[in-house]
Amino acid sequence: MKNNVIELRNVFKYYGEVLAVDGISLTVHRGETLGLIGHNGAGKSTLFKMMLGLIPASAGEIRINGTPVRGAAFRELRRTIGYLPENVVFYDNLTGLETLQFFASLKGCAHESCLPLLEKVGLARAANRRVDGYSKGMRQRLGFAQALLGKPRLLFLDEPTTGLDPEGIREFYQVLQELNAQGLTVVITSHILSEIQERVQRLAVLKSGKLHALGTVQELREEVDLPLTIRLRTVASAMVEHALQGIAVEALVVEGPNVTISCRRPVKMALLRRLATLGDSVEDIVVKEPSLEDVFLGYAA
Ligand code: ATP
Repeated sequence: MKNNVIELRNVFKYYGEVLAVDGISLTVHRGETLGLIGHNGAGKSTLFKMMLGLIPASAGEIRINGTPVRGAAFRELRRTIGYLPENVVFYDNLTGLETLQFFASLKGCAHESCLPLLEKVGLARAANRRVDGYSKGMRQRLGFAQALLGKPRLLFLDEPTTGLDPEGIREFYQVLQELNAQGLTVVITSHILSEIQERVQRLAVLKSGKLHALGTVQELREEVDLPLTIRLRTVASAMVEHALQGIAVEALVVEGPNVTISCRRPVKMALLRRLATLGDSVEDIVVKEPSLEDVFLGYAA
């Protein structure tokens, strides 16, 4: 299909005896941001390297924009793909600007694009400083600038926010959102699930090389069917259990005016309607969905 940027069909990767990727089929659409999550060793980086044509698949087929990931046609297409590897290595004796110009030459991009890119990632003031004096977060920003060289249409980001401070993380996702709005397709891995859950359209959960689950955060939540937590503050806490008679709650804990209830999603609305019968005696209600960590651990269990 025209809108499929990445297509994987039954992809396997063996490193000798080790089966790192175990029959993955997956499609990523144009303009989509897909999050790839999974435990250490689940196969995320291996999948990235195969999609970039850096290592061959042992079996199966990978296509980017309909082009198989090998040969001259792919080498040409590769110029439109940006990649931020998990561990970025630079020549320490070059400045940030020289480093970016070096990568620009390798990619065949104009050197004029380098300074604006350093500005975009917040490194303009450090552009003429040697990279050996850069902090981990600054190196990560430089790596991001390198990945953005040549205005890629597809971006692979392996743990891109490692080492970034909270402001850096926010700025990083802002840049990504801007590019996304212009139609960029992104595949991103992260171990900080709370960080990516609001920022990806779909999540692929890898487990021991297999695609364990795929969907929006909400779809994954519903599939795992973890209980929601409802917290209320009420002067009538002793009445809550009575008000909820006949509703299947998982747990109900009363601590003074605070009541914590957990329930499955299908009974949520009926439960809230019953709580509404307590009227003005309820001062506050907070409904807490299971976090992505809970969902992920639910899948990983
Ligand atoms: P992490 O979150 O720790 O970065 P990952 O999900 O990216 O992990 P991979 O690096 O793809 O996982 O590794 C998948 C499996 O393949 C692991 O069992 C790993 O030990 C193995 N592996 C990866 N690279 C090699 C290699 N070059 N030679 C042998 N085995 C490898």
